[in-house]
Amino acid sequence: MKTIGLIGGMSWESTAEYYRIINELVRERLDSAHSAKIAMYSVDFQEVREFHHNDKWDEATDFMIDAARRVERSGADFALICTNTMHKMADAVAANISIPLLHIVDATASKITAANIKKLGLLGSIFTMEENFYKDRLSERYDLEIIVPDKADQKIIDTIIFEELCMGEIKNSSRDRLKLIIDKLINNGAEGVILGCTELPLLAREITTSIPLFDTTAIHAEAAVNLALKD
Ligand code: GLU
Repeated sequence: MKTIGLIGGMSWESTAEYYRIINELVRERLDSAHSAKIAMYSVDFQEVREFHHNDKWDEATDFMIDAARRVERSGADFALICTNTMHKMADAVAANISIPLLHIVDATASKITAANIKKLGLLGSIFTMEENFYKDRLSERYDLEIIVPDKADQKIIDTIIFEELCMGEIKNSSRDRLKLIIDKLINNGAEGVILGCTELPLLAREITTSIPLFDTTAIHAEAAVNLALKD
């Protein structure tokens, strides 16, 4: 079994999910007392929020490279960035470590392609929904059509992520708002919705919809287990 490297803490609420899902899958697949070999570095999320607020993306890149190197030095065979947003620096991170980086978009796109879906709604932080680093990889590499909520709804989702979910708060009222936003994406032709923020599944797991929701946390964690157990 290979050692999975987790660059976590963004936020720890979702990294805890990665840790749980990865270990559950390894136990399921290998049986007995097996659990995953994991090397994790968990950052102080407040530092990341300050990069976001002050638009300090160069510093954020150095910070992410440093975190990835710590994971590599801890013996990981490959690494995962346990957040969609910080995949904004994924190329720089991959170029500065010598172990592979398992990209969250690639793992998610392979599930979407297997489901034969073309038009997707994307929910995540403002950065993920508004900027191109995430949408372009989906459209250019996987030929998927991506739609996002309008500005007002993007703000609602971003606030739910950073002010509630990352702070450990799950609110029924926010679940209702999320459901309404998903319904609008469906009305606009989405055949599936990407939960493109690793905390969103914490809120969305009790939502029922007529179309599939792609849980990037679970998908990324499962891709890590597949790679760790591959001979
Ligand atoms: N975990 C969130 C994501 O998947 C947001 C936290 C962050 O900014 O890294 O995008």
